[in-house]
Parts: sequence; structure tokens; C-alpha cells
Amino acid sequence: MRLVTSGRVAIGLALRALGVRTGDVVLVPAYHSPSMIPPAHWCGAEVRFYRVHSDTSPDLADIDAQLAAGNVRAILATHFFGIPHDLAPLRALCDRHGIGLVEDCAHCLFGARGGVPVGSLGDYAIGSTMKFFPIYEGGCLVSRRHRLDATLHGAGAGFELKAALNALEAAFAYGRLPVLRALLALPLRIKSALWDMLKSRGRTGGGGGETPSALAPSSSDSSFEFDPRWADKCSSWFSRVVLRLASPGRIVARRRRNYLDLQRALEDAPGCRPLFPRLPDGACPWMFPLLVDQPQAVCDALQRAGVPMTRFGATPWPGVDASLCANSADLGRRLIAFPCHQSLDDGERAWLHAQVRQALESCVAVPA
Ligand SMILES: *Cc1c(COP(=O)(O)O)cnc(C)c1O
Repeated sequence: MRLVTSGRVAIGLALRALGVRTGDVVLVPAYHSPSMIPPAHWCGAEVRFYRVHSDTSPDLADIDAQLAAGNVRAILATHFFGIPHDLAPLRALCDRHGIGLVEDCAHCLFGARGGVPVGSLGDYAIGSTMKFFPIYEGGCLVSRRHRLDATLHGAGAGFELKAALNALEAAFAYGRLPVLRALLALPLRIKSALWDMLKSRGRTGGGGGETPSALAPSSSDSSFEFDPRWADKCSSWFSRVVLRLASPGRIVARRRRNYLDLQRALEDAPGCRPLFPRLPDGACPWMFPLLVDQPQAVCDALQRAGVPMTRFGATPWPGVDASLCANSADLGRRLIAFPCHQSLDDGERAWLHAQVRQALESCVAVPA
């Protein structure tokens, strides 16, 4: 396993290891995170999009048709929201055509389907550890089929410090680790003051416009960019320690419980249905995806109430629209995903359930 600073870096390394280069085509699902595209461009490849079914599974007929067009070197397949697809048919198709399969487990760090662990059918599998753990940065690259030969380097003391402090500050902002927060209050205030001073000095002294040599990758700041300078950097010491201390069994159990509780709480809520009718055994959900009849009104109400949510796929790569794949356009428009994170406490979960219900109920009367 290689621990890197983001899932997209792991995608780039996987494609490079598969020999993807200029002139090649990489197939990516029409339903996607825009962060999945730049790693293929980094390898020099052209990206084409394949259709997905309404349950997000890959449309094999469409993939087959695109393979006939030639030049395809690799394909990305994503287990959306943590629900594993059966990738055996796609694996067989890739084998028939001599094409590399990258299993995108950014939403699916744990779990299995029919006894097959996620990540084991792809030539390579990638994960986004920062989507599952309380860490500032992190992704991983694994392979059951090939030796990993990427050599990684540390990104320096500034990065190590920033990764640790940002993770702790995020934890404090959510009311976690109160004792440590009290202990670190003064040092963190001093750090912020120093930081502001350095930044203002940088502004007055610099040529302006250009980003300073970044201490941390933009992938950690809700951006979809790919910064090649981070392609050979290993994940921070802080992130690696958190991963080592984590208990996967507990994380899976809690995420499943939180997902199922939310599903139950919304069972008879109006104007919505869960994307997946049931949570399969062995799946470890990333979030709880809900299809909503009046997404804009519901989203506005949720935003006013300060409810955390993600509208995955709402802003696809330019040019990817309903004419390319009606299902992904529909998912991007109607889907709202809610947290089922392992660390949510009882009070937070009860509040979330009540807020989502209320938002849905308040929008029943609003015309579409
Ligand atoms: C987030 C995401 C990625 C990229 O992961 P990062 O760690 O943000 O780089 C890849 N694929 C999917 C489906 C994602 O949601």
C-alpha cells in the first residue's frame, strides 16, 4: 500500500503504473467527482465518459461500444457512496480487451460484496482516506495484482505541522477533544498570529497573483485540482498515525448503524426516496444518498438550518450533460447526501434526522 496525500494522486499513480500516456483514452463514469479527470490529463490521456445506470452501476453496453472505438487504455469504476458494485463482468470485459481497471474506492474504503473485498478486482484500487478519517489530507493506492513501484518522499516539516494542526483545529471546531483544545488554545493562537504575519509579509513583498510554495495540497481545500508537485509525496505522519490507531470494525459498524437509522427516520418523509432501497450486507457507507423531488427548495431549507450535506455530481466536468447520460444528470440534480460518519454522537444524529425531515416537509407545498 502507498499512503499519499489524496485520492486523485493515487488515481494518477495508478494510471501511470498502467502505462497510460499521450494518445491513450481513459474511460470515466459520467457520474463522477471532477477531481477524477485531471489525473488522467496529467498522464497525457484523453478522458471519455461512459454511461451509468440509475443505481450508479456502470453501463457495460456503453463501455463495450466505446472500447470498440479503440485507444482505450484504462477505465475507472467507482463504488459510489460506499455501496460496492459487482465488478466481475467489467473485469472480464477489461481482460478480453487488455485494458487496465482502476477501482475507485474513494467512497468505499472498507467492505465486500459477495465475499469479494472491495479493491481486489481492479489492477489498482484507490481510496480517499480523508473522506473517512478525521485527517486533513490522505489517499491510498493498493494492488492485489501488481507490485507497487512508486517511490514517495516526505513533504517537509511545514507540511507535517500543518497537517497535524489543521486536523486538530477541525476537530476542535466540531467540539471534539475538549481537553486537548484547552491545552493548545494558547499555542494555536500564537500560530495563527504568526501565520497572519507571514501572509501579510508575503502579500506586500511578493509579485502578487502567484501561489506561494504551498505547504499543503489544494486537494485538501475542497478543490478539484490536481497538483503534480504532490504526486510523489507521502501522507503526513499525523494522518498515518490516525489510520494506524483506527478500528475498522468499529468504523464499519457505526457507519452502518448511522446510515440505517437515518434511512428509518426518513421512511415516510414526503418527496424523497433513498438511492439504494437497502444497505447490502458487508457495505460500509460513505454517506446516505437521498433522491429528492424538489432538490433546490430542500437544499435551501437545509442550508438555512446549517445541515451538513453533499450534492455529489451536481457540477460534472464541462460538457457532461443529460445528452451524454440522462441518469447521471438526474442524480446530479436530485441527489442530496447526508453524513453517517462514525463519530456522530446521539444528539447530532437526532438533530440531523429532525432537520432533514423538517426541510422535506416544509417543501411539500412548494411548487416545483
Ligand atoms: C473525492 C473523490 C475522489 C478523489 O479523492 P481526493 O482524496 O479528494 O483526491 C475520487 N473519486 C471519487 C468518486 C471521489 O468522490
